Formats: sequence, structure tokens, C-alpha cells
Amino acid sequence: MTGTTWRDHAACRTEDPDLFFPLGTDGTWALQIEQAKDVCRRCPVAEACLTYASAHHVSDGIFGGLTSWERRSIERRKARGRCEPEYPHPATSLAEALERRTTPTDDGHLLWTGVSHVSFHGQRYTGARASFLLAHGREPVGIVRRTCTTRGCVHGEHIADQEMRDTEDVCGSRKGYHRHRARGEDACEACRIANTQEGRRLRATGSTKAAA
Ligand code: SF4
Ligand SMILES: [Zn+2]
Ligand SMILES: [Zn+2]
Repeated sequence: MTGTTWRDHAACRTEDPDLFFPLGTDGTWALQIEQAKDVCRRCPVAEACLTYASAHHVSDGIFGGLTSWERRSIERRKARGRCEPEYPHPATSLAEALERRTTPTDDGHLLWTGVSHVSFHGQRYTGARASFLLAHGREPVGIVRRTCTTRGCVHGEHIADQEMRDTEDVCGSRKGYHRHRARGEDACEACRIANTQEGRRLRATGSTKAAA
């Protein structure tokens, strides 16, 4: 594949390039990063994009669904020999497929280190969906979101689907945001983002297509 072929299929071709170059990591930048990653998640050439960024040591911007610091952390892991090796056989279970794409952290999170999908039995799963399925034994309803504040975490107990956000006050939901407020504490990042997004959605009355 030449350097230009994969770009022709990039999901971000029609997006504002600035979306992929956040200037920070928190607040509205965190929202922007999630938005960019959403585009990457449905990109058919994410793997090629990530390979390109690694091969050219691109130090800025989101490529292949990963921010520059996430790519650096993977590079460091690679250097320490902890990155996904070439496996001689396909994963025998979804849990194994997920394990190959994740690294547990010392403080109890599970970081997604792979590209946008995990494949098992010819099916493609996002890390969050695979993890949700394994943790809850059912398909998630609607979008799966993180309930912890560790970026890239796909720990089964740290993600919730729309149903959980609607019915429980899990973190990463507007209910969670109000639960924090009711307890007089500062809302966590996941809740703040959920609250902002929900507010935006309501204001936009159905359309999230706003000028950058
Ligand atoms: S993975 Fe993301 S940044 Fe790379 S080409 Fe696809 S959409 Fe663009
Ligand atoms: Zn977590
Ligand atoms: Zn919270």
C-alpha cells in the first residue's frame, strides 16, 4: 500500500483537520479528543494511519484513534517488549482477543493499547463493546462510555451503556453528575463531559453539527 492509498479511505477526509490536533487534554479539549476518536473508530484505515504515524514519528495530533501521548506510551511499552507480539494463532475467546489489546494499570484500570477494533471469529468489536459484553453478559444498548476518568480505559466495570446511564446514576451520565452535586462534591471528568454533551445536544435540538 502506498502512502496515499490509505488516505483516500480515511474517515477524516471530510472533517475539519483541526479536530485532530487538540491543544490540550482536559475540559473542552477532552471533548474534542473524544469527538476525533469517534471518527477514527469508524475509520477503515485506522491501522494504516497508526502505522504511518509510528513510522514517521509523528509527535502531534490524533492518528489511528490514538493521541500523541498514547502513541508514545505504546512506543515505550514496545521498547520494553510489552506490546502486542505477532500471535501465531487467532484468539480462542473474546476475552483473549481483548487481553491482547489491553494492558492493566497498577491502579486498577485496563488500557486499550490496540487500534480501533478487536477481531474475534470474523466479528469486529470496539474495545469498550468487547469489554462490556464480557463484564455484563449482554450486548450494550446505545453508546458505551467510560465511567472512570482514565483515558483509554476499557475496564468492564468502568464502562456503562445508555441503558445504565438512563436508569442508574453511574459516572459518565447526567444522573451521575447530579449525584455528585447532591453530595456536594466536584463532578468527575466523565460526568462533567456527559453533562456538557447532554446540554449541548439539548440546545442543538437534535443536531450536533456545529461550526468548529
Ligand atoms: S484513523 Fe482517524 S486520523 Fe487516521 S485516517 Fe482514520 S479517521 Fe483519520
Ligand atoms: Zn478505568
Ligand atoms: Zn462521576
